[in-house]
Amino acid sequence: MCVDLPEHVRAGIGRRNLIAGLGIGAAGLALTACEPTSVDPAQADQIDHRQFGPPPQAGSKTKLVLLGTAGGPTLFPGNQSAGIASALAVGDRYYLIDAGHGVLSQLRKAKLGPHHEAAQDGPLDVLGGIFLTHLHSDHTVDLSNVLVTGIYNGLQSVSRIPVWGPGNRRRLPPLFGQGPAPAPINPANPTPGTQEMMDLLVQMFATDLNDRLFDNRKPAPAQLWEARDVPVPEEYLADPNGAPAPDMEPFTFYEDDRVKVSAILVNHAPVFPALAYRFDTEDGSVVFSGDTARCANLVRLAQDADVLVHEVIDEDWAAGLFPSPRSEAEEGLYRHLIQAHTLKTEVGAIAAEANVGTLVLSHLVPVIQPEAVWAECAKGFDGRMVVGRDLDVIDVSS
Ligand SMILES: [Zn+2]
Repeated sequence: MCVDLPEHVRAGIGRRNLIAGLGIGAAGLALTACEPTSVDPAQADQIDHRQFGPPPQAGSKTKLVLLGTAGGPTLFPGNQSAGIASALAVGDRYYLIDAGHGVLSQLRKAKLGPHHEAAQDGPLDVLGGIFLTHLHSDHTVDLSNVLVTGIYNGLQSVSRIPVWGPGNRRRLPPLFGQGPAPAPINPANPTPGTQEMMDLLVQMFATDLNDRLFDNRKPAPAQLWEARDVPVPEEYLADPNGAPAPDMEPFTFYEDDRVKVSAILVNHAPVFPALAYRFDTEDGSVVFSGDTARCANLVRLAQDADVLVHEVIDEDWAAGLFPSPRSEAEEGLYRHLIQAHTLKTEVGAIAAEANVGTLVLSHLVPVIQPEAVWAECAKGFDGRMVVGRDLDVIDVSS
């Protein structure tokens, strides 16, 4: 089966852009037109397309807010979806999971926080912490927006919120394909982790931050946030190029009065460490897969969770980018594409194996596909499935 892309999308997107959207790059080639997707009506009935609800308030139950649902850094022509980011609101505080493009404006639109009209209030004044699943740019690119321009959007009121994410990879990924290896970027430290990245971010914005500090008397970054690498047990970090990620048990690394957060390694090679997170609150549990291929670790982390927010790729779309016969390089790129992400025909079975109550599809690749394409994800899963769209609000309860 192929994918039915709108005419303006077909005309406007070359293969180069589509592939670059998933971070692997390739020469420009035409996207093939395809036949429409057929949908099993029984599956379509399972889909809860829209879960709009009121914004979270003090004392309300835990709510998941999808801020952005687009996977990959490509801004597809015609796409209205923001980059991948989610908020988990627990009462009158929320936690941010990933920070794709547009996240700060999406927080405004979601009316998270006190949402006063005064320019310097909300939505960041009730931010409880930031959790990055991995350091691909489509998950982090607007982190600077949150943390730097954030001091005019409520962040000036917080005190040392944690910014968690994976640590240093410690080794460059293996060279893909033939030919000589390129010179690495920043050879002294080519794979900085979250803590180092945040130090570099402060350096990058030092001129602005010093102006705000001296002229506007705003707080210094060290007063506002504290970056930390998620402490994955050392034994699982020994071989960053040894995909798939080693089997392991989830481990808890953060807890406050609202949430307990656990993590596990997932398979997003060559990205490493790539993490999935589980948030347990008094109302229930929500798991964020991050980017991953099908992965036993993820099933372990998500066991019996109320909500599983899972990434997904349309493998028929990917196959359309690389029609057979493929050259050796094309075959490698295609395999990379479908082996580092979870296929639409796999994600339902994963949700069933983990015995979750609700499967929420987010980080849709490509997000421009019609919802009928994603209906196939319900196959093998008897629970509720939500095809995630920006600003959807999903109640979390046991
Ligand atoms: Zn990724």
